[in-house]
Amino acid sequence: MSLKNKVALITGSASGIGKECAIKLSAAGAAVVIADLNLTDAQKVADEINQGGGKAIAIAMDVTNEEMVNAGIDETVKKLGSIDVLVSNAGIQIVHPIEDYPFAEWKKMMAIHLDGAFLTTKAAIKHMYDSGRGGSIIYMGSAHSHEASKLKAAYVTAKHGLLGLCKTVAKEGGPRKVRANVVCPGFVMTPLVEKQIPEQAKELGISEADVVKNVMLKETVDGEFTTVDDVANTVVFLAGFETNAITGQSILVSHGWFMQ
Ligand code: NAD
Repeated sequence: MSLKNKVALITGSASGIGKECAIKLSAAGAAVVIADLNLTDAQKVADEINQGGGKAIAIAMDVTNEEMVNAGIDETVKKLGSIDVLVSNAGIQIVHPIEDYPFAEWKKMMAIHLDGAFLTTKAAIKHMYDSGRGGSIIYMGSAHSHEASKLKAAYVTAKHGLLGLCKTVAKEGGPRKVRANVVCPGFVMTPLVEKQIPEQAKELGISEADVVKNVMLKETVDGEFTTVDDVANTVVFLAGFETNAITGQSILVSHGWFMQ
């Protein structure tokens, strides 16, 4: 399943899971677009890929800003010729008990995860339709697309919402060869999770070691973190899978934390 002559845009790819997706999509042959709020780090990822013999460009994109999303996707098609794979990955985490959850932070969470997924899909799918080749849209969900955890009302709501968007895009896009799927990782040690461990320890009144063992990894089959490689390999598989046989699905990559 080569991605040669394909173009993949990955949001939030200056760090963590998105960065590894970009590296592995490039290794599979795709030209990649590192789209992130943080242009300095995005450029570093693009430089790393280009120095390794791949093809990458970095673009500044706030996924909640319609003009920036449209401009970034138009720039992608202008510079690289098409957009065949969209990985809607940019995301944040904010934890509070619901009675203290600031409304502004709830709205920020919805904007990044849901508005971002909607805006990037809307902009990219037009090009996928116009090319006649279709494409693959991959949303970065979470085990929290299926499960809930305390303190994460906004995140769990947003990640569940992606399932609905994915299924609708799969139905609308199917006749025109556009597939849509959600990848649902368990806990992966990235800056997003590193920040959350002390915050959860404080809110729950337990030690950081207990947050890892008894909150984050408690339901896994082996007490292990999922890795960025595990998630990126799944994304590459979905990006290169060329038929509608797999569409509208969510794939758990979580050491068995949640079993469908
Ligand atoms: P991360 O913090 O390492 O990276 C997130 C990236 O998104 C950063 O580069 C950041 O600059 C970018 N970003 C944030 N807001 C943005 C915006 N408005 N527009 C564009 N870019 C923006 O986080 P990560 O752990 O790699 O998370 C990536 C995705 O994976 C998120 O959607 C997250 O919810 C999901 N996820 C993470 C885990 C985990 O355990 N780390 C588990 C399941 C799902």
